[in-house]
Amino acid sequence: MLKTWRFHGGLRLPAHKNLSAHRPIVNAALPKQLIYPLQQRSGVQLKPTVTPGESVLRGQIIADSDHFLATPLHAASSGTVKTIEDRIIPHPSGLSDSCIIIDTDGRDEALASEPVADYRLEPASALRTKIRQAGIVGLGGAAFPTSIKLNPGPQRHIDTLILNGAECEPYITCDNVLMQAEPDTIVQGALILMHALQVGNGIIAVEDHMTEAYEALSAAIEQSRDRRLTVVKIPALYPTGGEKQLIRVVTGKETPSGGIPADVGVICQNVGTAASVYNAICRGLPLTERVVTVTGQGVKQQQNLRARIGTPISDLINQCGGYQDSVERLIMGGPMMGFALPEDDIPIVKATNCILAAAESEVATSKETRPCIRCGDCAKACPVDLLPQQLYWHSRAGNLEKCKEFSLFDCIECGCCEVVCPSQIPLVQYYRAAKSKTVAKAKEAEKAAIAKRRHDFLLERKAREQAERAERSRRKKESLAKLKAAETATEGAE
Ligand code: SF4
Ligand code: SF4
Repeated sequence: MLKTWRFHGGLRLPAHKNLSAHRPIVNAALPKQLIYPLQQRSGVQLKPTVTPGESVLRGQIIADSDHFLATPLHAASSGTVKTIEDRIIPHPSGLSDSCIIIDTDGRDEALASEPVADYRLEPASALRTKIRQAGIVGLGGAAFPTSIKLNPGPQRHIDTLILNGAECEPYITCDNVLMQAEPDTIVQGALILMHALQVGNGIIAVEDHMTEAYEALSAAIEQSRDRRLTVVKIPALYPTGGEKQLIRVVTGKETPSGGIPADVGVICQNVGTAASVYNAICRGLPLTERVVTVTGQGVKQQQNLRARIGTPISDLINQCGGYQDSVERLIMGGPMMGFALPEDDIPIVKATNCILAAAESEVATSKETRPCIRCGDCAKACPVDLLPQQLYWHSRAGNLEKCKEFSLFDCIECGCCEVVCPSQIPLVQYYRAAKSKTVAKAKEAEKAAIAKRRHDFLLERKAREQAERAERSRRKKESLAKLKAAETATEGAE
């Protein structure tokens, strides 16, 4: 039994997992239309590699970019590119952006797959390239490109891979059911990731109530006969699934402020990501589908659906029997870190782990905010050990320098401080706004610095050209004077 540690703060929240945790994964029907936003979670805008009218096959790349944070997007079924137009995208802003729209043809024809014969014979760089080409990103919600995480640089020594099966947000059960249904795929995916990282220690972390998942993974590890991999149960405390919190719980290591897990020798990957890595390497399949929990009292039959990426949410809701009358809010993600959607004609993307159709009783409706009474409860609950009250004062006052001093960018926006705040202050809103302003200010400063460099360069060039002109004119005058002197000397001699 592996020893576990505790992190500061955290909350025991009502889990609401029973709504969907014991439902098997059901394959969602192929939608008539697939919608692909070109903006990725990282903010990178992909460029379409297809044009309207073009036929596509399942697994074909339809958009990509050479930006280092980009991963290609693949068609999730065969059909025809109908158009490329602005649609509302799944983003907290609720704004529209460019999307590729594919009309599916129902044949679901796929490109030929190219599996790797034996991944153990492949160098790490080749595996990373294949993982990027398969469009794999973190499926826990952050959607960070997996190939980049697998390349932490020569200055960092990685010794441990942690697979994150701690699905700590209420309602979400897609990872739990996947671990029960496909433990071998996850274990084999973990072994590929360990090979790509050249590490000898792999830990799969599940919450202590996930008994079936724990047993299924233990049996799969036993069958693999690979003693480098273990599965550990950790306490169900929100937000244990946060990378830095998980590392603390599983290894006792503290990731430094402003640092990343690789700084303490650890790489974390979600269990669903590991399964996708196995599918990409050993079956030659790019990432075109994922398991999504559709839940909440606002939907008739809560389920875990294996859905094609790009499927409109309305299709998934229909397959769950439609809405109950009482639906109050539609959320992508969980109730703590997810965001409200303005409508359901929006597609699921690689980061979509849950669609929560919440009834009135399940969401905090706008409450009356009262002044901060300096009780300190927010600081006790913060899993990052920040001072949320100070962050609140400084972000409210627009003092971004002070926010940085109080480590604003270490805030994981988990919402623990907000849940316990007796004054019901929407603290996370203040932090998000302060982060956006800081990022915007940094971009402005960068633009100004580039403009100044250009201006200085222009002045320098003008001064250089002026000096060169002056030198040329001086030399010319000098040679003229010499010529004249020579002529005068010749005339004198005659
Ligand atoms: S919990 Fe709320 S009221 Fe208490 S110190 Fe924090 S911000 Fe102020
Ligand atoms: S939202 Fe940020 S400040 Fe609040 S508890 Fe979470 S990490 Fe701490």
